[in-house]
Amino acid sequence: MTGRVTLVGGGPGAIDLLTVRAVRALAEADVVLVDRLAPHDGLAELAPQAEIVDVGKTPGHHAVPQHEIEAMLVRYAASGAHVVRLKGGDPYVLGRGGEEVLACHTAGIPVEVVPGVTSAIAVPASAGIPLTHRGVSHLFTVVSGHAPLSEEELAHLAGLGGTIVVLMGIATLPRLAAGLARHGLPAEHPIAVVERGFSPEQRTTVGTLADIVAIAGLARVASPAVVVVGEVVRLAHDGDAAAGELMARAAAMSVIA
Ligand code: SAH
Repeated sequence: MTGRVTLVGGGPGAIDLLTVRAVRALAEADVVLVDRLAPHDGLAELAPQAEIVDVGKTPGHHAVPQHEIEAMLVRYAASGAHVVRLKGGDPYVLGRGGEEVLACHTAGIPVEVVPGVTSAIAVPASAGIPLTHRGVSHLFTVVSGHAPLSEEELAHLAGLGGTIVVLMGIATLPRLAAGLARHGLPAEHPIAVVERGFSPEQRTTVGTLADIVAIAGLARVASPAVVVVGEVVRLAHDGDAAAGELMARAAAMSVIA
């Protein structure tokens, strides 16, 4: 009998940010293929009958290549197993979930997707940064920094306003900051880098488009990290003068609007 695959969004790394549906899928799993940024601690208890296979990747080192992961999903499921593919964050946010679903469809394997808490929203939140705030920003864009953005993309992003969230953006941070400045964002536009969200080593580094590269260099910021560009970054300094002033200005503006 053919098994099935459940693609589960594991959230940003904390086991208690798994959804109830994710926990149920794990409890019924025969095999769990787990990513590096998915939660690991406590997995054995959540999936007591399962063989747990770590297919985690580190940047530049694909422990198990993507095509091999897809082949494994199909192979395990074809042998009758319920396979849980536990991914970091949400499977469909820069997570190659679509490719894995397609591989299952192609092989005739039933597949279901369980959404997860994406790091794009949750990691800034854990640093006190709301991606939207009435009167400050009413939109956010999530982009991959895996490859440098094109001039056209930079121009659109700079022109759009609102908050920009970059995943996999540490290596390309200098080009992002310079590119956004070149396309008209002010030098003092705030930017934050939040590393290792939801771990004891979580750290937030704040600067501006003009100085973030130097500051990040001194702090030796490293992946995994979420980069946030926008006025909302100022709100993270909860209680300090700049945040207070911005909040007050935003509140006044929303009264006028
Ligand atoms: N599908 C995932 C994103 C995969 S891309 C999601 O929805 O969250 C991997 C990138 O996500 C990392 O390079 C980093 O930018 C970000 N990321 C994931 N977990 C993180 C964490 N705990 N702390 C900081 N960044 C994280």
